[in-house]
Amino acid sequence: MLTTNNSNNGSASTLDRANNNNDDSVTLIYANRLIIKKGLQIHMGYLVIDNHTGHVLQFGHQRDYKQQQQQHKHTTTSNSSSSSSSEQKKSHFLSCDMACAGFIDIHNHGMGGARTVQQYWLSDHTLERLVEYGTTSVLASLIFSLDDEAKRIMEQVIDRLKGIHGVVRERLAVVEGIHAEGPIIATNGGLPDAECDMNLDDFKILVDSMMPALKVMTISPSLEKQCRYERLQYLLDLGVKPALGHDTHADEESILTSLHMAAKKNCQLHITHMYNVSSFHHRKQTLCNFGLATRFPKLPSYQGIEPPTVEIIGDTVHVHPLTLQFTLDYKGNDVALISDAIMDAHGGCVEYNERQVEVCKKGDKNYAVLKGTNTIAGSCSNTLQIFHNLLRDLHMPVDKAVMMLSENPARIANLHHVGTLDVGKRGDVLLFDENYNLQHTVIAGRLSWSLKN
Ligand SMILES: [Zn+2]
Repeated sequence: MLTTNNSNNGSASTLDRANNNNDDSVTLIYANRLIIKKGLQIHMGYLVIDNHTGHVLQFGHQRDYKQQQQQHKHTTTSNSSSSSSSEQKKSHFLSCDMACAGFIDIHNHGMGGARTVQQYWLSDHTLERLVEYGTTSVLASLIFSLDDEAKRIMEQVIDRLKGIHGVVRERLAVVEGIHAEGPIIATNGGLPDAECDMNLDDFKILVDSMMPALKVMTISPSLEKQCRYERLQYLLDLGVKPALGHDTHADEESILTSLHMAAKKNCQLHITHMYNVSSFHHRKQTLCNFGLATRFPKLPSYQGIEPPTVEIIGDTVHVHPLTLQFTLDYKGNDVALISDAIMDAHGGCVEYNERQVEVCKKGDKNYAVLKGTNTIAGSCSNTLQIFHNLLRDLHMPVDKAVMMLSENPARIANLHHVGTLDVGKRGDVLLFDENYNLQHTVIAGRLSWSLKN
């Protein structure tokens, strides 16, 4: 296997195709309206991906590419010995109206393929489905419980995820790692009871069992305050991103202490699904207050720390479109939109920690509730639906919507090998028609899904 781009954070992307296939072709993509790049929109753009490494090789304006090809033809006919092999590679051609980097969902519990949510990641069902929704990278999100059978399944799931994380496999979204939603959780929301009072030794055993796949862990500051923040410190020491959340009791002191600890490690903290299972108060500073900040007041206790990044469920059910709009308008540079999915878009009925989850409808949107209650358990959403919500309901400019679904989540989860279409990043590309309908999903240069299939 070929391991690529492992520069500064331990994130790796492994191409299993390189094991048995010396593919020296390239994939050439023409976007006839625009290619969205980080901080840049290229009109009539092109993109070339090297299919051996799976990396973006070059990009620019189509007219420049055509000129370059003509010059090359001219050079090779006048002096055949000068032809370089790189310019004679066979190319696979794709065209579209708009192209952008693949979407990255850093909070997704899976979308089916098993009787219970906890078993989802034992199969490739979710990864097969995700490419249809433009999700090229996902953090497999795990929940914890006190139930012995659920714990046994969790061990199997962790083993499997450790085996496949970072590996590019044909026609499947890439599991980049794990987002552990717990077990140090103060306010359950839809989550089952877990060992939220786990001691440091047991916590270390659990965290170590998920390494090196563990990228993000949701942890409640109000519980950390009760035990000297030792578990939070352990995550920071390992380079796992702590995401403060599931904590309606978190006070100013506990959040400030967490932020100061992170600052010492040059880590920008994160907040798990802001607004859901967290609160705002104009005098008492809680998780949403900190999550909404883009800078801090000049108070002694706020010196030397930076505001956290946040993730928000973008299905417009968990968070009202009005709240979503002003939050994204204000804080957008530090927001990742997430699905928090536990089901596929067309719904169904599954078991979630011995409780039945069923689908409810709000307008044209589906969402999942614990049967017999009003508790929202997760979403039936996906990154493509969220992208359309942003464009159609919130009238958001397309480049900003793309940023919150690719570049920002990659940065937050330290997935530096994906998230933008820069040279050297993995060639994960979404190709859209003029109405932003997804036509093709490309992962590491290979076609992973097409609308016509
Ligand atoms: Zn979740």
